[in-house]
Amino acid sequence: MSNNLRIAVVGAGPAGLTLARLLQVHSVACTVFELDESPARRGQGGSIDLHRNGGQQALREAGLFAEFRRLSRPEGEALKLIKYDGTVVLDENKTGTRRPEEFSDRPEIDRTKLRQLLLDSLSPDTVVWGKKLITIAESSSMPGKHDLHFKDGVEEGFDLVVGADGAWSRVRNILTDQRPVYSGVTVIELWALHVDTRHQSLAEFVGAGSCFMFDEGRALQCQRDSENTIRVYAGVRQPEDWVNTCGIDWSSPEEAQKTLLGQYFNDCGPALKQAIMDASDQLIPRQMWMLPVGMRWKPREGVTLVGDAAHLMTIFGGVGVNLAMLDSLDLSRAVIDCAGDASRLPDAIRRYEEVIFARGEQYARKTEKGLKGHFSAKGVDEMARRLQGR
Ligand SMILES: Cc1cc2nc3c(=O)[nH]c(=O)nc-3n(C[C@H](O)[C@H](O)[C@H](O)COP(=O)(O)OP(=O)(O)OC[C@H]3O[C@@H](n4cnc5c(N)ncnc54)[C@H](O)[C@@H]3O)c2cc1C
Repeated sequence: MSNNLRIAVVGAGPAGLTLARLLQVHSVACTVFELDESPARRGQGGSIDLHRNGGQQALREAGLFAEFRRLSRPEGEALKLIKYDGTVVLDENKTGTRRPEEFSDRPEIDRTKLRQLLLDSLSPDTVVWGKKLITIAESSSMPGKHDLHFKDGVEEGFDLVVGADGAWSRVRNILTDQRPVYSGVTVIELWALHVDTRHQSLAEFVGAGSCFMFDEGRALQCQRDSENTIRVYAGVRQPEDWVNTCGIDWSSPEEAQKTLLGQYFNDCGPALKQAIMDASDQLIPRQMWMLPVGMRWKPREGVTLVGDAAHLMTIFGGVGVNLAMLDSLDLSRAVIDCAGDASRLPDAIRRYEEVIFARGEQYARKTEKGLKGHFSAKGVDEMARRLQGR
């Protein structure tokens, strides 16, 4: 199917690249504008699990499922749940992952591999690198179309602009004044590299996948990727300015780790404390932001959003990438459906937005509940019960 729509996708994250691939499979052309200078410019972060009815479904329709299976790690699903004192409540490394259907078949894949899989599937020159969007505006010369103002120039006359530009989306600014709000939680991301040789006890402690500890006002999530790295996310429920006012010198990682441990995790079991100290290769404090649950915008012809740009949530529902890829699947269907008749596009986009508003709200509520559970003393028992179908 060919089309004469001029489509811009802003952002080459999972949402933007999935959308571009799905459109191209149906011969609908688009250009992806990405602020990174190149695919290698920035680490893409750790491992993510793709759900059967989420990211996997989008990859199936994108014709990339077999390759995803080859790159993914089903063993990475294994989860260990422990209490703050080290008591093991569940260890799927020992019991196997015998979960209810809704929680099963969620193989892990490294973000970098997912991005490369999607990039390799696109026609050459689909992604234009080093294009930082500053603002989007209605075209002055072509009524009904939009122009994109980048740091280094303007691209004019798009019939459809899709904001796939993540948490701090610039495209979103034309649809709503709403900005992300602080969720009440800050996470310190700590890395341990070459764990099989340099941090064997941490590797044994975490197992093949992830190891989570939840407690009142604090949480520790350790996760392995396929590059022999373990990321330890030490979360604390603290005010928005805590990163700057807590007195921890983040520029001196070893000191920061010691202070974090001493002030917030000192009464934890020895293996948990060791996990914080072992992960000493990189330290990144991350405030967790979210869009208000149920946020919507008034439809505007020629502009829409996918992924975090549309419904940013914290990481405590574990669904962000899956929703982002599902949005792209739904939007691609809407666009493909009316690629031969552009006049049908506004209605198709409105219907798409109704779907993602409802789905986004549903998962934002679950994620809110997840955040409460992750930072509560009962959270580990509750998660174990759910995973065991009790
Ligand atoms: C620490 C952490 C752990 C997580 N773990 C999980 C998990 O286990 N499972 C899960 O499902 N989700 C997880 N998430 C959430 C997940 O990362 C996001 O939901 C997902 O990446 C959203 O995809 P996206 O494509 O919408 O946005 P992004 O991945 O943010 O991609 C946006 C892209 O747009 C580009 N961009 C931004 N601004 C501009 C601009 N002005 N101009 C041009 N380009 C721009 C960015 O460079 C980026 O490439 C996690 C998030 C974090 C922070």
